[in-house]
Amino acid sequence: MATNRTFTMIKPDAFGEGNSGAILKMIEEAGFKIIALKLTQLNEELAGKFYEVHKERPFYKDLCDYMSSGPIIAAILEKDNAVADFRKLIGATNPKEAEKGTIRKLYAKSIEANAVHGSDSDENAAIEGSFFFSETEKVNA
Ligand code: ATP
Ligand code: MG
Repeated sequence: MATNRTFTMIKPDAFGEGNSGAILKMIEEAGFKIIALKLTQLNEELAGKFYEVHKERPFYKDLCDYMSSGPIIAAILEKDNAVADFRKLIGATNPKEAEKGTIRKLYAKSIEANAVHGSDSDENAAIEGSFFFSETEKVNA
């Protein structure tokens, strides 16, 4: 089951601009089923924990500030080949390099404020999903 799931966040820039509905529509139209969903806000400490793998990178502090700057929508998604297919749907980290029709090409503002997160492996999808959701918050329909 875990191999068919990924985790996403609609980041503060996209939520703040009112693009959540359009982004969720693209996600559903691409065949992803929503398993869990919540509107929440990270504080700096939680953002730091979520992006801990990047703690040595020069952009880490800015990234944590940005990710805790406003509400986000967190979701677990299910589809065959979920992780890879979702990375394809969102496009490259830098929206300037993202392919036409991808979520980041359409909605990201910059390499930092890039609209959405997508897990990079099955293992991280499971870890990240559990960071935001308990088992009872996941729908097994
Ligand atoms: P995400 O993990 O959010 O899905 P990603 O996997 O495409 O994005 P990562 O390399 O994991 O990219 O970087 C995590 C996040 O850190 C990026 O989405 C972006 O918000 C920010 N980031 C990455 N590179 C830079 C950079 N060079 N300058 C500023 N912010 C950056
Ligand atoms: Mg990443």
